Amino acid sequence: MTRILTHFIGGLEVEGASGRYGDVFNPATGKLDARVPLATADEVNAAIASAREAFPAWAATTPLRRARILAKFKSLLEANADRLAEIISAEHGKVHSDALGEVTRGIEVVEFACGAPHLLKGEVTENIGTGIDSHSLRQPLGVVAGITPFNFPAMVALWMFPVALACGNTFVLKPSERDPSAPLLLAQLLKEAGLPDGVFSIVNGDKEAVDAILHHPDVQAVSFVGSTPIARYIYATGAANGKRIQALGGAKNHMVVMPDADLEKAADALMGAAYGAAGERCMAISIAVAVGDEVADALVARLAPRVREIRIGPATQRNAEMGPLVSGAHRDKVRSYIDSGVAEGAHLVVDGRDYRMEPGQHEQGYFLGGTLFDRVTPQMRIYREEIFGPVLGVVRVKTYREAVELINAHEYGNGTAIFTQDGDSARMFAHEIQVGMVGVNVPIPVPMAFHSFGGWKNSLFGDHHMHGPEGIRFYTRLKTITSRWPTGIRTGADFVMPTMS
Ligand code: NAD
Repeated sequence: MTRILTHFIGGLEVEGASGRYGDVFNPATGKLDARVPLATADEVNAAIASAREAFPAWAATTPLRRARILAKFKSLLEANADRLAEIISAEHGKVHSDALGEVTRGIEVVEFACGAPHLLKGEVTENIGTGIDSHSLRQPLGVVAGITPFNFPAMVALWMFPVALACGNTFVLKPSERDPSAPLLLAQLLKEAGLPDGVFSIVNGDKEAVDAILHHPDVQAVSFVGSTPIARYIYATGAANGKRIQALGGAKNHMVVMPDADLEKAADALMGAAYGAAGERCMAISIAVAVGDEVADALVARLAPRVREIRIGPATQRNAEMGPLVSGAHRDKVRSYIDSGVAEGAHLVVDGRDYRMEPGQHEQGYFLGGTLFDRVTPQMRIYREEIFGPVLGVVRVKTYREAVELINAHEYGNGTAIFTQDGDSARMFAHEIQVGMVGVNVPIPVPMAFHSFGGWKNSLFGDHHMHGPEGIRFYTRLKTITSRWPTGIRTGADFVMPTMS
Protein backbone atom coordinates (compact mmCIF):
# COMPACT_ATOMS: atom_id res chain seq x y z
CA MET A 1 0.00 0.00 0.00
CA THR A 2 1.26 3.49 -0.82
CA ARG A 3 2.39 5.47 2.22
CA ILE A 4 0.65 8.81 2.75
CA LEU A 5 3.06 11.32 4.27
CA THR A 6 2.19 14.21 6.56
CA HIS A 7 3.33 17.68 7.52
CA PHE A 8 5.01 18.19 10.91
CA ILE A 9 3.57 21.22 12.66
CA GLY A 10 3.81 22.23 16.31
CA GLY A 11 5.51 18.96 17.25
CA LEU A 12 2.83 16.76 15.64
CA GLU A 13 2.39 14.86 12.41
CA VAL A 14 -0.43 16.66 10.65
CA GLU A 15 -2.37 15.18 7.75
CA GLY A 16 -2.63 17.26 4.60
CA ALA A 17 -5.93 19.10 4.21
CA SER A 18 -5.58 20.43 0.67
CA GLY A 19 -6.59 17.24 -1.13
CA ARG A 20 -3.55 17.80 -3.39
CA TYR A 21 -0.71 15.27 -3.30
CA GLY A 22 2.62 14.81 -5.03
CA ASP A 23 3.89 11.37 -6.06
CA VAL A 24 7.17 10.17 -4.55
CA PHE A 25 8.84 7.45 -6.63
CA ASN A 26 11.61 5.00 -5.91
CA PRO A 27 13.99 5.93 -8.75
CA ALA A 28 15.68 2.51 -8.70
CA THR A 29 12.42 0.67 -9.49
CA GLY A 30 10.28 3.42 -11.00
CA LYS A 31 7.51 2.42 -8.57
CA LEU A 32 5.32 4.81 -6.59
CA ASP A 33 6.71 4.86 -3.05
CA ALA A 34 4.58 7.44 -1.23
CA ARG A 35 2.27 10.40 -1.67
CA VAL A 36 3.18 13.72 -0.13
CA PRO A 37 0.56 16.32 0.79
CA LEU A 38 0.95 19.70 -0.92
CA ALA A 39 0.10 22.43 1.56
CA THR A 40 -2.29 25.31 1.07
CA ALA A 41 -1.41 28.80 2.32
CA ASP A 42 -3.57 28.10 5.40
CA GLU A 43 -1.46 25.10 6.34
CA VAL A 44 1.73 27.13 5.87
CA ASN A 45 0.21 29.90 8.00
CA ALA A 46 -0.48 27.37 10.76
CA ALA A 47 3.17 26.29 10.82
CA ILE A 48 4.34 29.91 10.87
CA ALA A 49 1.87 30.74 13.66
CA SER A 50 3.20 27.86 15.75
CA ALA A 51 6.79 29.00 15.09
CA ARG A 52 5.87 32.54 16.08
CA GLU A 53 4.29 31.33 19.31
CA ALA A 54 7.33 29.21 20.17
CA PHE A 55 9.83 31.99 19.41
CA PRO A 56 9.89 34.08 22.65
CA ALA A 57 10.57 31.10 24.92
CA TRP A 58 13.14 29.58 22.53
CA ALA A 59 14.95 32.91 22.09
CA ALA A 60 15.02 33.27 25.89
CA THR A 61 16.44 29.75 26.35
CA THR A 62 20.11 30.14 27.18
CA PRO A 63 22.47 29.44 24.27
CA LEU A 64 24.05 26.56 26.14
CA ARG A 65 20.69 24.86 26.73
CA ARG A 66 19.85 25.23 23.05
CA ALA A 67 23.24 23.76 22.18
CA ARG A 68 22.66 20.80 24.48
CA ILE A 69 19.47 19.88 22.64
CA LEU A 70 21.42 20.03 19.40
CA ALA A 71 24.13 17.82 20.93
CA LYS A 72 21.45 15.25 21.77
CA PHE A 73 20.10 15.60 18.22
CA LYS A 74 23.61 14.93 16.89
CA SER A 75 23.82 11.67 18.87
CA LEU A 76 20.41 10.62 17.54
CA LEU A 77 21.50 11.41 13.99
CA GLU A 78 24.58 9.24 14.46
CA ALA A 79 22.49 6.40 15.84
CA ASN A 80 20.04 6.71 12.93
CA ALA A 81 22.56 7.45 10.16
CA ASP A 82 22.07 4.14 8.40
CA ARG A 83 18.28 4.37 8.49
CA LEU A 84 18.40 7.96 7.26
CA ALA A 85 20.72 6.95 4.42
CA GLU A 86 18.33 4.17 3.40
CA ILE A 87 15.41 6.59 3.30
CA ILE A 88 17.45 9.06 1.23
CA SER A 89 18.46 6.34 -1.24
CA ALA A 90 14.92 5.01 -1.56
CA GLU A 91 13.55 8.38 -2.70
CA HIS A 92 16.58 10.04 -4.29
CA GLY A 93 18.33 7.01 -5.76
CA LYS A 94 21.92 7.75 -4.67
CA VAL A 95 23.97 4.76 -3.55
CA HIS A 96 24.13 3.90 0.15
CA SER A 97 27.73 5.01 0.79
CA ASP A 98 27.00 8.36 -0.85
CA ALA A 99 23.80 8.83 1.19
CA LEU A 100 25.80 8.06 4.34
CA GLY A 101 28.34 10.68 3.25
CA GLU A 102 25.51 13.20 2.92
CA VAL A 103 24.33 12.41 6.46
CA THR A 104 27.88 12.77 7.79
CA ARG A 105 28.32 16.19 6.20
CA GLY A 106 24.98 17.22 7.72
CA ILE A 107 25.97 15.99 11.17
CA GLU A 108 29.08 18.16 10.95
CA VAL A 109 26.90 21.26 10.76
CA VAL A 110 25.05 20.18 13.90
CA GLU A 111 28.45 19.74 15.55
CA PHE A 112 29.38 23.26 14.49
CA ALA A 113 26.05 24.65 15.75
CA CYS A 114 26.72 23.12 19.19
CA GLY A 115 29.56 25.67 19.47
CA ALA A 116 27.28 28.61 18.65
CA PRO A 117 27.37 30.06 22.19
CA HIS A 118 30.98 31.00 21.49
CA LEU A 119 30.10 32.57 18.14
CA LEU A 120 27.19 34.55 19.56
CA LYS A 121 29.49 36.44 21.90
CA GLY A 122 29.50 40.15 21.16
CA GLU A 123 32.22 42.77 21.48
CA VAL A 124 32.80 45.27 24.25
CA THR A 125 34.77 48.51 24.37
CA GLU A 126 35.19 50.13 27.71
CA ASN A 127 35.35 53.93 27.95
CA ILE A 128 34.55 54.99 24.39
CA GLY A 129 33.90 58.37 26.07
CA THR A 130 34.35 59.32 29.71
CA GLY A 131 32.19 56.92 31.70
CA ILE A 132 30.70 55.52 28.50
CA ASP A 133 30.98 51.87 27.37
CA SER A 134 29.82 50.27 24.17
CA HIS A 135 28.91 46.66 23.46
CA SER A 136 27.43 44.81 20.55
CA LEU A 137 25.42 41.62 20.51
CA ARG A 138 23.73 39.39 17.99
CA GLN A 139 20.05 38.58 18.46
CA PRO A 140 17.87 36.04 16.63
CA LEU A 141 15.60 37.23 13.83
CA GLY A 142 12.40 35.40 14.79
CA VAL A 143 10.65 32.93 12.47
CA VAL A 144 12.88 31.90 9.58
CA ALA A 145 12.19 29.47 6.74
CA GLY A 146 14.17 27.05 4.58
CA ILE A 147 13.29 25.74 1.11
CA THR A 148 15.40 22.83 -0.07
CA PRO A 149 16.17 20.90 -3.30
CA PHE A 150 15.83 17.19 -4.03
CA ASN A 151 19.51 16.37 -4.40
CA PHE A 152 20.51 16.51 -0.71
CA PRO A 153 17.24 16.01 1.16
CA ALA A 154 18.95 15.80 4.56
CA MET A 155 22.25 17.68 4.20
CA VAL A 156 20.96 20.93 2.73
CA ALA A 157 18.25 21.20 5.42
CA LEU A 158 21.02 20.53 7.95
CA TRP A 159 23.07 23.39 6.46
CA MET A 160 20.29 25.68 7.61
CA PHE A 161 18.22 24.81 10.66
CA PRO A 162 20.86 23.72 13.22
CA VAL A 163 22.54 27.13 12.89
CA ALA A 164 19.22 29.00 12.86
CA LEU A 165 18.00 27.15 15.97
CA ALA A 166 21.32 27.55 17.80
CA CYS A 167 20.98 31.32 17.29
CA GLY A 168 17.52 31.29 18.90
CA ASN A 169 15.25 31.40 15.84
CA THR A 170 12.31 29.13 15.15
CA PHE A 171 12.26 27.39 11.78
CA VAL A 172 9.78 26.27 9.12
CA LEU A 173 11.16 23.91 6.46
CA LYS A 174 9.63 23.33 3.02
CA PRO A 175 11.53 20.31 1.64
CA SER A 176 11.60 19.10 -1.94
CA GLU A 177 8.37 17.28 -2.74
CA ARG A 178 10.38 14.58 -4.53
CA ASP A 179 12.10 13.13 -1.44
CA PRO A 180 10.37 14.43 1.70
CA SER A 181 10.75 11.41 4.03
CA ALA A 182 14.29 12.13 5.29
CA PRO A 183 13.37 15.65 6.51
CA LEU A 184 10.33 14.17 8.32
CA LEU A 185 12.65 11.82 10.18
CA LEU A 186 14.87 14.80 11.10
CA ALA A 187 11.81 16.46 12.65
CA GLN A 188 11.07 13.33 14.72
CA LEU A 189 14.66 13.17 15.94
CA LEU A 190 14.63 16.85 16.93
CA LYS A 191 11.51 16.20 18.99
CA GLU A 192 13.14 13.17 20.58
CA ALA A 193 16.16 15.33 21.41
CA GLY A 194 13.90 17.58 23.46
CA LEU A 195 13.25 20.46 21.07
CA PRO A 196 10.10 22.28 22.25
CA ASP A 197 7.06 21.95 19.99
CA GLY A 198 6.72 24.63 17.35
CA VAL A 199 10.44 25.50 17.25
CA PHE A 200 10.84 23.37 14.11
CA SER A 201 8.03 22.56 11.66
CA ILE A 202 7.80 21.06 8.21
CA VAL A 203 5.24 21.97 5.58
CA ASN A 204 5.37 19.83 2.50
CA GLY A 205 4.34 21.43 -0.73
CA ASP A 206 5.12 23.11 -4.01
CA LYS A 207 5.00 26.67 -5.35
CA GLU A 208 1.82 27.42 -3.41
CA ALA A 209 3.55 26.71 -0.08
CA VAL A 210 6.69 28.59 -1.15
CA ASP A 211 4.66 31.66 -2.11
CA ALA A 212 2.82 31.58 1.21
CA ILE A 213 6.21 31.67 2.98
CA LEU A 214 7.53 34.48 0.78
CA HIS A 215 4.50 36.67 1.41
CA HIS A 216 4.00 36.00 5.12
CA PRO A 217 4.79 39.08 7.23
CA ASP A 218 6.01 36.98 10.19
CA VAL A 219 8.80 35.27 8.23
CA GLN A 220 11.95 37.31 8.78
CA ALA A 221 14.39 35.41 6.58
CA VAL A 222 14.43 32.67 3.95
CA SER A 223 17.25 30.30 3.07
CA PHE A 224 16.84 28.65 -0.31
CA VAL A 225 18.84 26.09 -2.27
CA GLY A 226 17.74 24.94 -5.72
CA SER A 227 17.91 25.87 -9.38
CA THR A 228 18.91 29.36 -10.53
CA PRO A 229 15.57 30.53 -12.00
CA ILE A 230 13.78 29.68 -8.73
CA ALA A 231 16.64 31.12 -6.61
CA ARG A 232 16.33 34.38 -8.51
CA TYR A 233 12.55 34.39 -7.97
CA ILE A 234 12.92 33.66 -4.23
CA TYR A 235 15.47 36.45 -3.85
CA ALA A 236 13.42 39.04 -5.75
CA THR A 237 10.07 38.17 -4.14
CA GLY A 238 11.42 37.69 -0.62
CA ALA A 239 13.48 40.90 -0.72
CA ALA A 240 10.51 42.85 -2.11
CA ASN A 241 8.60 41.67 0.97
CA GLY A 242 11.36 42.96 3.27
CA LYS A 243 12.91 39.60 4.13
CA ARG A 244 16.54 38.69 4.47
CA ILE A 245 17.32 36.13 1.75
CA GLN A 246 20.12 33.75 0.87
CA ALA A 247 19.25 31.88 -2.34
CA LEU A 248 21.75 29.39 -3.71
CA GLY A 249 21.29 28.37 -7.33
CA GLY A 250 22.67 26.08 -10.00
CA ALA A 251 26.20 25.45 -11.18
CA LYS A 252 28.54 24.45 -13.96
CA ASN A 253 31.80 23.51 -12.30
CA HIS A 254 35.06 23.38 -14.26
CA MET A 255 38.18 21.46 -13.34
CA VAL A 256 41.37 22.70 -15.00
CA VAL A 257 44.00 20.06 -15.72
CA MET A 258 47.40 21.67 -16.24
CA PRO A 259 50.18 20.04 -18.32
CA ASP A 260 52.18 19.33 -15.13
CA ALA A 261 49.28 17.66 -13.31
CA ASP A 262 49.45 14.05 -12.17
CA LEU A 263 47.02 12.67 -14.77
CA GLU A 264 46.21 9.49 -12.84
CA LYS A 265 45.10 11.54 -9.87
CA ALA A 266 43.23 13.98 -12.10
CA ALA A 267 41.36 11.10 -13.76
CA ASP A 268 40.49 9.56 -10.37
CA ALA A 269 39.22 12.93 -9.21
CA LEU A 270 37.12 13.45 -12.33
CA MET A 271 35.49 10.03 -12.07
CA GLY A 272 34.17 10.70 -8.55
CA ALA A 273 33.40 14.37 -9.08
CA ALA A 274 31.56 13.96 -12.41
CA TYR A 275 29.74 10.66 -11.92
CA GLY A 276 29.24 10.42 -8.13
CA ALA A 277 25.54 10.81 -7.24
CA ALA A 278 24.94 10.46 -11.02
CA GLY A 279 26.12 14.06 -11.40
CA GLU A 280 23.20 15.37 -9.35
CA ARG A 281 25.38 17.53 -7.13
CA CYS A 282 25.68 21.29 -7.28
CA MET A 283 29.43 20.79 -6.77
CA ALA A 284 29.77 18.05 -9.43
CA ILE A 285 32.48 18.71 -12.00
CA SER A 286 30.76 18.74 -15.38
CA ILE A 287 33.54 20.32 -17.44
CA ALA A 288 37.20 19.26 -17.54
CA VAL A 289 39.35 22.02 -19.03
CA ALA A 290 42.43 20.36 -20.49
CA VAL A 291 45.35 22.73 -21.06
CA GLY A 292 46.97 21.49 -24.28
CA ASP A 293 45.95 18.73 -26.70
CA GLU A 294 48.41 16.30 -25.17
CA VAL A 295 46.73 16.59 -21.77
CA ALA A 296 43.29 16.27 -23.37
CA ASP A 297 44.22 13.14 -25.34
CA ALA A 298 45.83 11.48 -22.33
CA LEU A 299 42.94 12.38 -20.05
CA VAL A 300 40.24 11.12 -22.41
CA ALA A 301 42.21 7.90 -22.96
CA ARG A 302 42.29 7.33 -19.20
CA LEU A 303 38.67 8.30 -18.57
CA ALA A 304 36.88 6.47 -21.39
CA PRO A 305 37.35 2.86 -20.20
CA ARG A 306 36.61 3.84 -16.63
CA VAL A 307 33.37 5.60 -17.57
CA ARG A 308 32.26 2.45 -19.43
CA GLU A 309 33.00 0.37 -16.34
CA ILE A 310 31.17 2.40 -13.68
CA ARG A 311 29.22 -0.06 -11.51
CA ILE A 312 25.66 1.13 -11.94
CA GLY A 313 22.98 -0.18 -9.62
CA PRO A 314 20.41 0.46 -6.93
CA ALA A 315 21.45 1.45 -3.40
CA THR A 316 20.54 -2.04 -2.21
CA GLN A 317 23.51 -3.30 -4.26
CA ARG A 318 26.14 -2.19 -1.78
CA ASN A 319 29.07 -2.12 -4.21
CA ALA A 320 27.22 0.11 -6.71
CA GLU A 321 29.09 3.31 -7.57
CA MET A 322 26.29 5.18 -9.33
CA GLY A 323 22.53 5.00 -8.89
CA PRO A 324 19.62 6.15 -11.06
CA LEU A 325 18.53 9.73 -11.73
CA VAL A 326 15.78 11.15 -9.57
CA SER A 327 12.89 10.85 -12.04
CA GLY A 328 11.99 9.57 -15.48
CA ALA A 329 11.46 13.14 -16.68
CA HIS A 330 14.91 14.19 -15.46
CA ARG A 331 16.54 11.17 -17.12
CA ASP A 332 14.84 12.09 -20.40
CA LYS A 333 16.06 15.68 -20.03
CA VAL A 334 19.65 14.53 -19.48
CA ARG A 335 19.34 12.23 -22.50
CA SER A 336 18.14 15.15 -24.60
CA TYR A 337 21.22 17.13 -23.55
CA ILE A 338 23.36 14.28 -24.85
CA ASP A 339 21.40 14.40 -28.14
CA SER A 340 22.03 18.13 -28.36
CA GLY A 341 25.77 17.69 -27.72
CA VAL A 342 25.94 15.24 -30.61
CA ALA A 343 23.88 17.54 -32.85
CA GLU A 344 26.14 20.50 -32.04
CA GLY A 345 29.26 18.58 -33.00
CA ALA A 346 30.86 17.54 -29.70
CA HIS A 347 32.73 14.24 -29.91
CA LEU A 348 30.76 11.58 -28.00
CA VAL A 349 33.40 9.25 -26.55
CA VAL A 350 31.15 7.23 -24.22
CA ASP A 351 27.39 7.19 -24.80
CA GLY A 352 25.25 6.36 -21.76
CA ARG A 353 21.90 6.89 -23.46
CA ASP A 354 21.09 3.27 -24.14
CA TYR A 355 22.12 1.89 -20.79
CA ARG A 356 19.64 -0.75 -19.59
CA MET A 357 19.48 -2.66 -16.29
CA GLU A 358 19.22 -6.44 -16.46
CA PRO A 359 15.60 -7.67 -16.67
CA GLY A 360 14.16 -7.80 -13.14
CA GLN A 361 12.89 -5.33 -10.63
CA HIS A 362 15.13 -2.44 -11.72
CA GLU A 363 14.33 -2.49 -15.40
CA GLN A 364 11.92 0.42 -14.98
CA GLY A 365 14.36 2.41 -12.80
CA TYR A 366 15.63 5.77 -14.07
CA PHE A 367 19.17 4.60 -14.83
CA LEU A 368 21.45 6.22 -17.38
CA GLY A 369 24.99 5.28 -18.29
CA GLY A 370 28.00 7.52 -17.69
CA THR A 371 28.63 9.77 -20.69
CA LEU A 372 31.84 11.45 -21.84
CA PHE A 373 32.19 14.17 -24.46
CA ASP A 374 35.42 15.51 -25.91
CA ARG A 375 35.91 18.70 -27.94
CA VAL A 376 33.09 20.56 -26.22
CA THR A 377 33.08 24.27 -27.10
CA PRO A 378 31.71 27.24 -25.10
CA GLN A 379 28.91 27.89 -27.61
CA MET A 380 27.31 24.47 -27.10
CA ARG A 381 24.25 24.01 -24.84
CA ILE A 382 26.00 21.15 -23.05
CA TYR A 383 28.66 23.69 -22.06
CA ARG A 384 26.45 26.64 -21.18
CA GLU A 385 23.69 24.90 -19.21
CA GLU A 386 23.62 22.82 -16.05
CA ILE A 387 22.81 19.22 -17.06
CA PHE A 388 22.70 17.69 -13.56
CA GLY A 389 23.41 14.19 -14.81
CA PRO A 390 26.34 11.78 -15.34
CA VAL A 391 27.76 13.72 -18.29
CA LEU A 392 31.31 15.07 -18.38
CA GLY A 393 32.55 17.33 -21.18
CA VAL A 394 36.18 18.00 -22.02
CA VAL A 395 36.98 21.50 -23.30
CA ARG A 396 40.40 21.92 -24.90
CA VAL A 397 42.28 25.19 -24.34
CA LYS A 398 45.84 26.14 -25.24
CA THR A 399 46.92 28.06 -22.15
CA TYR A 400 46.26 28.60 -18.45
CA ARG A 401 45.08 32.15 -19.29
CA GLU A 402 42.48 30.80 -21.71
CA ALA A 403 41.21 28.42 -19.01
CA VAL A 404 40.76 31.25 -16.51
CA GLU A 405 39.00 33.48 -19.04
CA LEU A 406 36.66 30.63 -19.96
CA ILE A 407 35.63 29.99 -16.36
CA ASN A 408 35.30 33.66 -15.47
CA ALA A 409 33.02 34.22 -18.48
CA HIS A 410 30.56 31.53 -17.37
CA GLU A 411 27.32 32.69 -15.76
CA TYR A 412 27.75 30.28 -12.83
CA GLY A 413 30.43 30.48 -10.15
CA ASN A 414 29.74 27.78 -7.59
CA GLY A 415 32.82 25.54 -7.44
CA THR A 416 35.97 24.98 -9.48
CA ALA A 417 39.29 23.17 -9.20
CA ILE A 418 42.77 23.21 -10.64
CA PHE A 419 45.01 20.15 -10.84
CA THR A 420 48.68 21.10 -11.01
CA GLN A 421 52.01 20.53 -9.29
CA ASP A 422 52.99 24.16 -9.73
CA GLY A 423 52.39 26.40 -6.71
CA ASP A 424 52.53 29.59 -8.78
CA SER A 425 49.65 28.58 -11.05
CA ALA A 426 47.65 27.22 -8.11
CA ARG A 427 48.03 30.43 -6.15
CA MET A 428 47.27 32.64 -9.12
CA PHE A 429 44.19 30.55 -9.94
CA ALA A 430 42.83 30.79 -6.38
CA HIS A 431 43.36 34.55 -6.51
CA GLU A 432 41.87 35.44 -9.86
CA ILE A 433 39.11 32.93 -10.45
CA GLN A 434 35.58 34.33 -10.03
CA VAL A 435 34.08 31.36 -8.25
CA GLY A 436 32.98 31.00 -4.62
CA MET A 437 34.62 27.66 -3.75
CA VAL A 438 38.00 26.69 -5.20
CA GLY A 439 39.90 23.42 -5.00
CA VAL A 440 43.62 23.00 -5.56
CA ASN A 441 44.13 19.33 -6.39
CA VAL A 442 40.76 18.83 -4.63
CA PRO A 443 37.91 18.21 -7.08
CA ILE A 444 34.89 18.91 -4.85
CA PRO A 445 35.95 21.69 -2.48
CA VAL A 446 32.84 21.68 -0.27
CA PRO A 447 33.80 23.76 2.77
CA MET A 448 33.64 22.13 6.20
CA ALA A 449 30.80 23.15 8.52
CA PHE A 450 32.93 25.73 10.36
CA HIS A 451 33.68 27.51 7.07
CA SER A 452 30.84 28.72 4.86
CA PHE A 453 29.32 27.29 1.67
CA GLY A 454 28.31 29.44 -1.29
CA GLY A 455 29.00 30.37 -4.88
CA TRP A 456 29.29 33.60 -6.85
CA LYS A 457 27.46 35.08 -9.84
CA ASN A 458 24.25 33.20 -10.76
CA SER A 459 25.01 30.51 -8.19
CA LEU A 460 24.02 32.68 -5.21
CA PHE A 461 21.66 35.60 -4.72
CA GLY A 462 22.07 37.42 -1.41
CA ASP A 463 24.93 38.50 0.79
CA HIS A 464 25.61 35.53 3.02
CA HIS A 465 26.90 32.05 2.33
CA MET A 466 25.56 29.10 4.36
CA HIS A 467 26.64 27.66 7.71
CA GLY A 468 29.94 28.51 9.40
CA PRO A 469 30.43 32.15 10.48
CA GLU A 470 28.30 33.40 7.56
CA GLY A 471 25.38 31.27 8.80
CA ILE A 472 25.59 32.86 12.25
CA ARG A 473 25.57 36.32 10.64
CA PHE A 474 22.63 35.44 8.43
CA TYR A 475 20.44 34.16 11.26
CA THR A 476 21.17 37.00 13.71
CA ARG A 477 20.99 40.76 13.65
CA LEU A 478 23.47 43.05 15.25
CA LYS A 479 22.64 45.47 18.03
CA THR A 480 25.10 47.97 19.49
CA ILE A 481 24.48 49.44 22.93
CA THR A 482 26.13 52.57 24.30
CA SER A 483 25.80 53.10 28.05
CA ARG A 484 26.90 55.77 30.51
CA TRP A 485 27.78 54.62 34.03
CA PRO A 486 27.92 56.09 36.58
CA THR A 487 25.16 58.55 35.76
CA GLY A 488 26.39 61.01 38.41
CA ILE A 489 28.15 63.41 36.01
CA ARG A 490 25.81 66.10 34.69
CA THR A 491 26.87 67.31 31.23
CA GLY A 492 23.89 69.47 30.31
CA ALA A 493 22.07 69.56 26.98
CA ASP A 494 24.34 69.22 23.97
CA PHE A 495 23.10 70.00 20.47
CA VAL A 496 26.14 68.93 18.46
CA MET A 497 26.89 65.45 17.16
CA PRO A 498 28.31 63.45 20.12
CA THR A 499 32.12 63.19 19.92
CA MET A 500 34.70 61.94 22.37
CA SER A 501 35.55 65.46 23.55
P1 NAD B 1 14.26 23.34 -7.85
O1 NAD B 1 14.67 24.76 -8.02
O2 NAD B 1 13.37 22.74 -8.86
O3 NAD B 1 13.50 23.16 -6.44
C1 NAD B 1 14.04 23.64 -5.24
C2 NAD B 1 12.90 23.99 -4.29
O4 NAD B 1 12.11 25.02 -4.87
C3 NAD B 1 11.96 22.82 -4.00
O5 NAD B 1 11.63 22.83 -2.64
C4 NAD B 1 10.76 23.12 -4.88
O6 NAD B 1 9.55 22.64 -4.33
C5 NAD B 1 10.74 24.64 -4.95
N1 NAD B 1 10.20 25.13 -6.22
C6 NAD B 1 10.27 24.52 -7.44
N2 NAD B 1 9.66 25.27 -8.37
C7 NAD B 1 9.19 26.37 -7.75
C8 NAD B 1 8.48 27.53 -8.18
N3 NAD B 1 8.12 27.69 -9.45
N4 NAD B 1 8.18 28.48 -7.28
C9 NAD B 1 8.52 28.33 -6.00
N5 NAD B 1 9.20 27.25 -5.51
C10 NAD B 1 9.55 26.29 -6.38
O7 NAD B 1 15.61 22.51 -7.67
P2 NAD B 1 15.78 20.93 -7.61
O8 NAD B 1 15.55 20.35 -8.96
O9 NAD B 1 15.03 20.36 -6.46
O10 NAD B 1 17.33 20.82 -7.24
C11 NAD B 1 18.36 20.84 -8.19
C12 NAD B 1 18.95 22.21 -8.34
O11 NAD B 1 19.43 22.68 -7.10
C13 NAD B 1 20.16 22.22 -9.27
O12 NAD B 1 20.07 23.37 -10.09
C14 NAD B 1 21.34 22.34 -8.32
O13 NAD B 1 22.50 22.94 -8.85
C15 NAD B 1 20.76 23.17 -7.25
N6 NAD B 1 21.51 23.04 -6.01
C16 NAD B 1 22.34 24.05 -5.66
C17 NAD B 1 23.09 23.95 -4.52
C18 NAD B 1 24.02 25.06 -4.11
O14 NAD B 1 24.54 24.99 -3.04
N7 NAD B 1 24.22 26.09 -4.92
C19 NAD B 1 23.03 22.80 -3.73
C20 NAD B 1 22.16 21.78 -4.11
C21 NAD B 1 21.40 21.92 -5.26
